[in-house]
Amino acid sequence: MQYIGRFAPSPSGPLHFGSLIAATASYLCAKSVQGQWLLRIEDVDKFRIKKNSIKRILQTLESYGYQWNGDILYQSQRTEAYQQALDSLAELAYPCTCTRKFLQRQVSIGAYGYIYPGFCREQISNIDSPQFAMRLRTNNKPLCFEDSLQESLCQDIETEVGDFIIKRSDAMFSYQLAVVVDDAYQQISDVVRGSDLLDNTPRQLYLQQCLGYQQPTYLHFPTAITEDGKKLSKQNHSPEVDDAQKRQTILRTLNFLGQQAPAIDHFSSLEDVWDWAIKNWNRDKIPAQMTLPENYPD
Ligand SMILES: [Zn+2]
Repeated sequence: MQYIGRFAPSPSGPLHFGSLIAATASYLCAKSVQGQWLLRIEDVDKFRIKKNSIKRILQTLESYGYQWNGDILYQSQRTEAYQQALDSLAELAYPCTCTRKFLQRQVSIGAYGYIYPGFCREQISNIDSPQFAMRLRTNNKPLCFEDSLQESLCQDIETEVGDFIIKRSDAMFSYQLAVVVDDAYQQISDVVRGSDLLDNTPRQLYLQQCLGYQQPTYLHFPTAITEDGKKLSKQNHSPEVDDAQKRQTILRTLNFLGQQAPAIDHFSSLEDVWDWAIKNWNRDKIPAQMTLPENYPD
C-alpha cells in the first residue's frame, strides 16, 4: 500500500512553531518513503477562522519549502460528505437537546472533559426543537490501539467520554466526524500528529468502525511543552523572513524531532536542509516525550 500522509492545520491563526513541527514530522515520514503528503485545511468550524489565515498558512508552508501533493482539501466545502456520513450512521446517531447549562449542572467531569451519560438516547429523530446536536451512541467495549511511538492506549468511550457530538447544535459538523470522513476520503494511510490529540484517537477509531472505514496507522509525536507545563506554540512564523532564518527554523524542528541535524553552516540553502532531512530521516529517533527548559526561546 502506498504511504499517504497529511498535514491538516486549522486556520485559527498563522502557523506557529508547534505547527511547523507537525508539518515537518508528517512531511518527512511521507517523503522519506516516497509517499504522498496531502494538505487539508480544517476550516470546519467557521467561527474559529481568522481572516487571511488560510492565505498566510499556505504562503508560510510554501516559503519554508514544504511541497504538498495534489489539491488542497477544504473542510468548509465538505458539508455534503459529512451529512452523508451522518445519515449512514442511522440509529447510532441521535438528537440531543441538552443545553450547556443543563450539562454543567448534571454531568461529571472525567479525564477527557465532561462525560455525557446518554440523557437523550431514547429521543426520536424528528423532534420538535429548533436547536439540537447529534450525538453518536457509544458502547463500553474498550477500544485499544497501538501507536507507532506512544504507549498503546485503551479507552472505554461510553464510560470515559460518553456519547459524543458529531454535529453541533449550531449545525457545524464536529471535528471528530470531519477528520474521520476526510482521512478516509483522502485515503490517508498514516496519521502523524501531536500527542495532544492522542486521546481523541479512540473516538475516531470508533467512528471509522461505525462507518466501515479502514483504520490508518497513527504516530503521535510529543507536543513540545516547557518545564512549567505550557505548550510551546507562541511564536508565529511568517513567510517573510530570510532564507537563513528559515533554514534555522527547519533545523530546529528537526532537532525537536530528535534528528541531530548538522549545524546551519553545513547547509548553503533551504533546499540543502530538506535534502539532508529526507535522506537522513529516522522516525525511531523521535523522543516519546519532550520537555524544554522554562526559558527556552520560542
Ligand atoms: Zn442530551
